[in-house]
Amino acid sequence: MIYLDSNATTKMAPEVLEEMLPFLTEEFGNPSSFHTFGSRILEEVEKGRERLAALLCVSPEEVFFTSGGTESDNAALESGVSWDPDRPGLVTTSVEHPAILETAQYLESQGNPLHVAKVDREGVLEIHSLREGITEHTGIVSVMVANNETGVIMPVAEAAEAAHEKGALFHTDAVQGVGKIPLDIDAMGVDMLSLSSHKIHGPKGVGAIYIRKGTPFSPLIRGGHQERGIRAGTYNVAGIVGLGMAAELARLHLEEEIGPVSELMRILEDGVLASCPEAVIAGSGALRLPNTATVLFTSVESEAILTLLDLEEIYVSSGSACSTGSKDPSYVLSAMGVPQMQANTAIRFSLSRYTTRAEIERVLEILPPFVRKLREISPYSK
Ligand SMILES: *Cc1c(COP(=O)(O)O)cnc(C)c1O
Repeated sequence: MIYLDSNATTKMAPEVLEEMLPFLTEEFGNPSSFHTFGSRILEEVEKGRERLAALLCVSPEEVFFTSGGTESDNAALESGVSWDPDRPGLVTTSVEHPAILETAQYLESQGNPLHVAKVDREGVLEIHSLREGITEHTGIVSVMVANNETGVIMPVAEAAEAAHEKGALFHTDAVQGVGKIPLDIDAMGVDMLSLSSHKIHGPKGVGAIYIRKGTPFSPLIRGGHQERGIRAGTYNVAGIVGLGMAAELARLHLEEEIGPVSELMRILEDGVLASCPEAVIAGSGALRLPNTATVLFTSVESEAILTLLDLEEIYVSSGSACSTGSKDPSYVLSAMGVPQMQANTAIRFSLSRYTTRAEIERVLEILPPFVRKLREISPYSK
C-alpha cells in the first residue's frame, strides 16, 4: 500500500514501539504508587516530558500530558474563557480544526462571545479580521500553527502579539506544526500550545499541552493530583513514553527530513499539475508545510478519485477527513472562497518521513490516467 494521509494519522516509528513495549508488559506499575514497583516508573514519565520539552525548547515544568490534541484544545479554550470574569470572550479563525471550532461554538452557546476571523484566498489568516474581534473582554485568542487540510502556515507570532496587546491569552493548535517545521515557541509568544502524538509517529490517544509558566489555567479534567493538578487521571505510561520517543526522533531528525519530504512533494505537485491541466493547489501562494498539498482537480469529483485510488491501495483523503460521510464541501476551502463545485474535487496528499520516491512515482503513473478517464464521464466538464 501507499499511505499518503499522514495528516490524519501516521505510522508509529519502530523505535517508538520498542520503547513502549516494557510498559505494556512487565512494567505495569502505577507511577503514583508509593511502592518502588510503581514509583520508579515516574522516572520514565519524566523522561518523556523532558524529551518533549527539548523538542519544544521549553521547560519540562511547562509540559502536561493529555489524551491528545482534541483534549488539549478543549482544555485551552475552556480555561481561556474562565480565568477572568471580565474576559469571557474568545477569538479564533474560520479554518481551525473541529476540536477548536466546535468547542468555540459550544462556548458561544454557553454565553461566551465568539469572534471568528477570516482567512484570505490563500488560506492565510487576515490579521486585521483577527484584531477587529479582540477587545478588553477577550479571554483567549486561538490560531493554529498550520492548517491540517491545506498545510497553510499561519502568522502565529503576529496573532499572539495582537492578543497580548489587549491583555488576552494566546493559544495555538500546533498539532500539524510540531515535528514538521522548526518552531520557536518563545519567539512566537505563545501562552498555551496543543500537540498530538499520533501525528508525529507516536501512539494514538496521547498528547500534551504546553502552558507557559505563570499562565492562569483551570483544569478540564479533575480528580487526582497527577500533572500537578493540571490534568487528573492515571498516567498513560506507554503512551507518554512513546510520545517522548517520537519527540526525540523529531528533534534529532527534523532538519534532515524537511529536505527530502519537500523534494518528494515538489515532484508530486509538478507531476500532477503537468498531467492534469485544470488542477490547482489550494493555498499555493502561501507558505505551507513541506508535507501537505491539497489539489483541486476542478473537473473530477474527489469521491471518484478516492475510490479508484483506494482500489490500488493508495490512501489519500478528500478535503476533510473529519467530514467523511458528509457531502458538505470542506469548510476550510469554503472559507478560502473556493466554490462548492471545485471544493468537491479536492484531494489531500500528506507525506511523512517514510514516504519514498518510488511511491510518489507510482502515484504519478496511476493518477493522471484515472483523472483523464473520469473527466470524460464527468458532469463537471463540458
Ligand atoms: C489531528 C488534529 C487534532 C486532534 O488531535 P487528536 O490527538 O487526534 O485528538 C487537532 N488539531 C489538528 C490541527 C489536527 O490535525
